[in-house]
Amino acid sequence: MADLTRLTAAEIAVKVASGELTAVEVTEAHLARIEAVDEKVHAFLHVDREGALAQARAVDEKRERGEELGPLAGVPLALKDIFTTQGIPTTVGSKILEGWLPPYDATVTKRLRDAGVVVLGKTNMDEFAMGSSTENSAFGPTGNPWDLTRIPGGSGGGSSASLASFQAPLAIGTDTGGSIRQPAAVTGTVGVKPTYGAVSRYGMVAFSSSLDQGGPCARTVLDAALLHEVIAGHDPMDSTSIDAPVPPVVEAARNGSVQGMRIGVVKEFAGEGYQAGVMQRFNESVELLRELGAEIVEISCPSFDKALAAYYLIAPSECSSNLARFDAMRYGLRAGDDGSRSAEEVTALTRAEGFGAEVKRRIMLGTYALSSGYYDAYYGSAQKVRTLITRDFEKAFEQVDVLISPTTPTTAFPIGERADDPMAMYLADLCTIPANLAGNAAMSLPCGLAPEDGLPVGLQIIAPAMADDRLYKVGAAVEAALTATWGHPLLEEAPSL
Ligand code: GLN
Repeated sequence: MADLTRLTAAEIAVKVASGELTAVEVTEAHLARIEAVDEKVHAFLHVDREGALAQARAVDEKRERGEELGPLAGVPLALKDIFTTQGIPTTVGSKILEGWLPPYDATVTKRLRDAGVVVLGKTNMDEFAMGSSTENSAFGPTGNPWDLTRIPGGSGGGSSASLASFQAPLAIGTDTGGSIRQPAAVTGTVGVKPTYGAVSRYGMVAFSSSLDQGGPCARTVLDAALLHEVIAGHDPMDSTSIDAPVPPVVEAARNGSVQGMRIGVVKEFAGEGYQAGVMQRFNESVELLRELGAEIVEISCPSFDKALAAYYLIAPSECSSNLARFDAMRYGLRAGDDGSRSAEEVTALTRAEGFGAEVKRRIMLGTYALSSGYYDAYYGSAQKVRTLITRDFEKAFEQVDVLISPTTPTTAFPIGERADDPMAMYLADLCTIPANLAGNAAMSLPCGLAPEDGLPVGLQIIAPAMADDRLYKVGAAVEAALTATWGHPLLEEAPSL
């Protein structure tokens, strides 16, 4: 029988619905794959074998009873370990939550379960989603299935690696500054950061609340759209959740086209620091879009140069406040509580032991930026830059339907190369951060392999807020055209493990 782990989510869903495959056999195939390769990849922090099989059985029984199945019923998924799962460990890649069992499901978790999606387990990530390589996980790094000595991106490296190593056809990530798109780019997969507020943050452990956004990860544009539709939509439990219909993303993914569209190339995302092979594949994609009938326009977004600086004030500021709740009293780890110490001492010891270096760095930066006397100079200025970036986007979208750029300046770098150099690490998100600051929708999809190292290159598409469907329309057209020319990088050129 054909290898079930090579099927797309769309194919699995159809086959399960028709009875050609059972959800249990699909789940078992993926669990076996995890067993075979995850020792090397380390995409998962926790595999919920029993829970996954029980969910799969429930789908099969539902079908046998003749009940209608959801659009992704029986499809396995890898869930980033930042979403709470009732009774199943949720660590956010941190020691501080070790041993904590959430008493409730995140809205995303609940929607997945309600849709019959089979949650295989929880994926590795940079601690509290801070990082671009998954090296900041307290539980050790994840390897990139294309080359296990290289990073799978971050913070959602476990999710991207699970897709690229065929351990799951679908995954969920979160994107505060690029943590869905950058991992997608460096693993040759598809990742979407929906419009801010499109996917509920309820039960998604907070890093930087005004930037955090959950979203779908997959190997194809259509699969990402199918997952997008399942997880998006208004949630009264999240006060920033958008109360409006989800844009028609699946319809857009099924009808890819750029005919007559105006597509803007962001001028600022090129030049020094951009790998030659990344620019080559990007420029070829631009040509391809032109051939497919799009009008290509160069667009300048002058404030984007300041996005990284603004982000690294706003995100740490919000994190310093959000992470104050890890006080040794409420969750997980408690260090030094031997009866001789005060509550303050136990809190301090627990935070010293429970948080890693990058998280501490950000808490200190954020606390400093928010302190009286410095607030206006740092946090206030960063918020002004944020407004300028939003205006750049608004002006751009008066002229074009979507913007495009490389997703990342380089392909996957070696594990260890930037681990001790936070600034070099931060540069991985140069092109992704503006969309978070403005709240726009953005996607990364594979656009070829860099000639110099044979590693995947990501094409970023950015759409106005609430026009997420445009990402899928353009993405599907690019994917189809590229696949017709040189095959799908992942589906046909599977990395050998
Ligand atoms: N790499 C960025 C950071 O470290 C983005 C993280 C994210 O999107 N969660 O903050």
